[in-house]
Amino acid sequence: MPDKQKITVLGSTGSIGVSTLDVIARHPGLFRVVALTANSQADKLFLQCQQFEPEFAVLLDADAAQQLQSKIAAAGLATEVLHGVEALERVSSLPQVDSVMAAIVGAAGLRPSLAAARAGKKILLANKETLVMSGRVFMDAVRASGSGLLPIDSEHNAIFQSLPRDFGRGLDAVGVTRILLTASGGPFRSKALSELEHVTPAQACAHPNWSMGRKISVDSASMMNKGLEVIEAHWLFDAPAERIQVVVHPQSVIHSMVEYADGSVLAQLGNPDMRTPIAYALGFPERIHAGVSPLDLFKIARLDFEAPDLARFRCLDLAYQALRCGGTAPAILNAANEVAVAAFLDEKLPFLGIPSVIEHALEQITSAPVNCLEDVQQADSLARKVASECILRQGAGAFTPHPSPLHDGARAIGSAPGGDASCGHTPH
Ligand code: NAD
Ligand code: MG
Repeated sequence: MPDKQKITVLGSTGSIGVSTLDVIARHPGLFRVVALTANSQADKLFLQCQQFEPEFAVLLDADAAQQLQSKIAAAGLATEVLHGVEALERVSSLPQVDSVMAAIVGAAGLRPSLAAARAGKKILLANKETLVMSGRVFMDAVRASGSGLLPIDSEHNAIFQSLPRDFGRGLDAVGVTRILLTASGGPFRSKALSELEHVTPAQACAHPNWSMGRKISVDSASMMNKGLEVIEAHWLFDAPAERIQVVVHPQSVIHSMVEYADGSVLAQLGNPDMRTPIAYALGFPERIHAGVSPLDLFKIARLDFEAPDLARFRCLDLAYQALRCGGTAPAILNAANEVAVAAFLDEKLPFLGIPSVIEHALEQITSAPVNCLEDVQQADSLARKVASECILRQGAGAFTPHPSPLHDGARAIGSAPGGDASCGHTPH
C-alpha cells in the first residue's frame, strides 16, 4: 500500500479549508494531516485538532494560540501549538510534508505559499492573491524547486483539466487559441449602476451559486474576483491578457473552457461545489470521491452566456489594466482592493467606492519592475497607505460613481486595451 499523502492545510478554518478537510476525512487511507492553521479562531481550530490530530496547529495571533494551547493540553492531545508568520512558513516547508493546501485569504497567504514553493512541496493553490501580487517570483520558485502546482480556484482547475498535460510548452505549441474564463456575474449581475450605489455588505455576500468567505464574496459582487482570476490565469498558463476572455455564465455549471486552433472548445462542468477541484488536486493524477452530488443536466436544462459589462463592473477593467501594465501594478491593485473591501464590509465605504479607491491607488503609485519579494511587499504597503488615506479623506458616502472610460456599455474583454495611465515601465 502506498504511503499516505502528508498535508498542511493553511487557512483550515475558512471556507476552502473546511471543504478540504471534508474531502480528506472521506479518505482516511490516503491522507494524513500534519498541520492546520488559522488566523485567530482557536475554538474552531481546536475542534479540527481533535478530529485530525495534526502534529502542529498554528494561529497567527499569539493570544489565540495561548487559548488553543490550554485546550490542547486539557484534552491530552499531542499537537504542538505555534504562532506567527514564521510558524506558518515553517509548517509549509516541514520535511515530512508532501502537499500544502494554500487557503489563507488575501496577501497574508503570500509568505507561507512561497515557503511551500521554495521547499518543493506539491502546492494546492487557492490563495489567488499570491499569484496576483507576485506571479513571477512565485512561478520562478515553483520552477526552481520542481514543486508541483495545482490550481484550486474552480475556473483554473477547469482550465487545467481542459488543457493538454504538456501545456507548459506554450499555448501556441499545443494549439490553444484562447482561455474562456467563466464568471457567474455575482449577486448584482443584472442590477443597474444606480442600484449598486446603496447595496449593503449582506447583499454583496449573498452569492447566488457559491458559499465562500466574505472577502471573496465581495470580490465576486464587484467582479474584482474575475479580474484577479484573469491575472491568476496569466501566470498559471502563461497566457497574455488578450487571450483570456471573460464569459459571464450565470448558472456556474461550466467552470471554464479552452479554445483550440481547430475550433474545438473543451470545458469542465460540475455542480458549483469547491470539493470537486479540491478532490481533483488532492488525488491528482487519480480521481477520488468528493462528496459532490452528480450533475443533473435535465434539471439545469439551459446554459446562458453574456459578455461582461465593464461600465458597471469597473474592477474587472482595472484588473486588465494592471495586468497589461505589469510590474507591481497588480500588487497595487490587490492591496488597494483588500483595503477597500475591508472598509466596505465595515460600512466605511460604499460599494461603488471600491473601484474608485483602487483607481486612485493605481494612478498615484507608479508601477515598478518586480525582481524580488521585497519589491512586491513595498508596493503592497504603499498601496495600503494610499488606499486608507483615500478612504479617510473621502469619508463614507462621499464617493460618486466614477464613469468608466468604457461607458459605451457592454463589450467583450480583450477586444480593445484599457488605459494604463500610471504604467511606469515596459509591460511584460
Ligand atoms: P475564508 O475567509 O473563509 O478563510 C480564510 C482562512 O484564512 C481562515 O482559516 C482564516 O483563519 C485564515 N486567515 C485569514 N487571515 C489570515 C492571516 N492574516 N494570517 C493567517 N491566516 C489567516 O476564505 P476562503 O473563502 O476560504 O478563501 C481562501 C482563499 O481561497 C482566498 O484567497 C480565496 O480567494 C480563494 N478561493 C476561495 C474560494 C471559495 O469558494 N471560498 C474559491 C476560489 C478561491
Ligand atoms: Mg474562482
